[in-house]
Amino acid sequence: MKIKKFTVNPFQMNCYIYYDEDSLEGVIIDPGAYDKYEEDEIISFVDSKNIKLKYSLNTHGHIDHVLGNKFASSCFNIPQMIHGDDLFLLENAKIHGMVFGINIDEVPTPDEYITEELVLPIGESELRFIHTPGHSPGGVCIVDHLNKIVFSGDTIFRESIGRTDLSGGNINILLDSIHNKLFYQCDDDYTLYPGHMDETTIGKEKRYNPFLR
Ligand SMILES: [Zn+2]
Repeated sequence: MKIKKFTVNPFQMNCYIYYDEDSLEGVIIDPGAYDKYEEDEIISFVDSKNIKLKYSLNTHGHIDHVLGNKFASSCFNIPQMIHGDDLFLLENAKIHGMVFGINIDEVPTPDEYITEELVLPIGESELRFIHTPGHSPGGVCIVDHLNKIVFSGDTIFRESIGRTDLSGGNINILLDSIHNKLFYQCDDDYTLYPGHMDETTIGKEKRYNPFLR
């Protein structure tokens, strides 16, 4: 599987295209494109590689992660999916945008909801979902167990964790999600692709992340 990262919008959020080189099936994760330039960058990459995007997935509902939901689902004609516990964030996205000085249209209602039972086959692999609330109630980690890849959203970063002072955040729930769900289901050699900043591994975070000691 291949992964292409686009760091987009004023929040420097990582949007990922995850795709299979053989079948060319793929997904877009957190389409946070903010302007036409960022949208065009994503479109030209997908077109140049002939990637057949199947789904647009949100790790959670914060504005920097959902800014481009409308763009991705309409441009690529694919369903938008998010965990249902973050629906309230989508409904308030326009107001949240104003708080941060970001102009955003209404975010469309998702087409389907992410659950822990959901399995999305993508080429030779498949994506599964771990519900990891704490940064937001409907936060999920998106996992490819075959290739040991995790898209961790804002649950965990390299040597940091997601903030818990936003609506529905809770530090104890977040730490429980990381220790007892993410670390329980994924071994040390899994690579983490977070919603902000650089990649890391579960093993490195167990050793060096000051918030997890
Ligand atoms: Zn967030």
